[in-house]
Amino acid sequence: MTTGDSERMDFTDDRLPTLNIGHPVFMNYRGEELSLPTGTIEDLLGELAALEKEVDAFLPSPDSGVMFLKEIYRIVDRLGQVIGPGMACSTGCSACCRVMVATTRVEAELLDERIRSSSPQRQREWEAKVSDRNAFLSDLASGCSPEADLTSFDGLLATCEKYEQANKACPFLGEDHLCQVYEERPLLCRVCWVLTDPRDCEPGEGPPVKFRTAVFQKSHELVGKVSQKHFGDGRVSPIPFWFREKPREHC
Ligand code: SF4
Ligand code: SF4
Repeated sequence: MTTGDSERMDFTDDRLPTLNIGHPVFMNYRGEELSLPTGTIEDLLGELAALEKEVDAFLPSPDSGVMFLKEIYRIVDRLGQVIGPGMACSTGCSACCRVMVATTRVEAELLDERIRSSSPQRQREWEAKVSDRNAFLSDLASGCSPEADLTSFDGLLATCEKYEQANKACPFLGEDHLCQVYEERPLLCRVCWVLTDPRDCEPGEGPPVKFRTAVFQKSHELVGKVSQKHFGDGRVSPIPFWFREKPREHC
């Protein structure tokens, strides 16, 4: 893994197909009207603000970083439980696992804990997929002019479309279209809530309309802050990128 300066993705950037939900009523692709759970959102924003004060007060340590990350996930998942039934997303629907999913160092550390506790056979399977995706990412980056920096927002934007066209699944997506690291999946996988037809998530279709609230923006900022403080690295990069050249215990 690498270290470096903090760089945050800006999810209000016009180049991203994202809809920030502010209106109290909105509609999904099934034509169902949904109400914005404003009370829940305010509660969760309050919890995130309180958590941020703890993050600020704690001395840096990797264990604390992973502990705070799990707490952020717990808060975000509560919003998912409330709004999930109105979303287009369902079990086994996995086009969103075949795009470039960006994540931070602290999230990669939690994934790494999961990898290390898995069977040697499963580790070898993941390692082969990680290696394949990283070779592809490297080719994509070097094919850009100038070469794309896969730890920068602009570098991700420069390469994500071609990555999606290649239809490369996340290394942790199983043959059954289920996430093999579901409990430890990154923030973006937890908040990938879509209102439009799931077919819009397929490569070359869409773009899907994503459900975004201030909880997402705040949790994303806080994950970056935790990663920066506890691991000295607040950047975002594609999931496989964090596992390049990382020796596994079975080797
Ligand atoms: S984001 Fe799209 S592909 Fe992923 S679960 Fe939701 S509807 Fe399905
Ligand atoms: S970590 Fe899991 S949910 Fe996230 S992209 Fe990979 S397979 Fe999909």
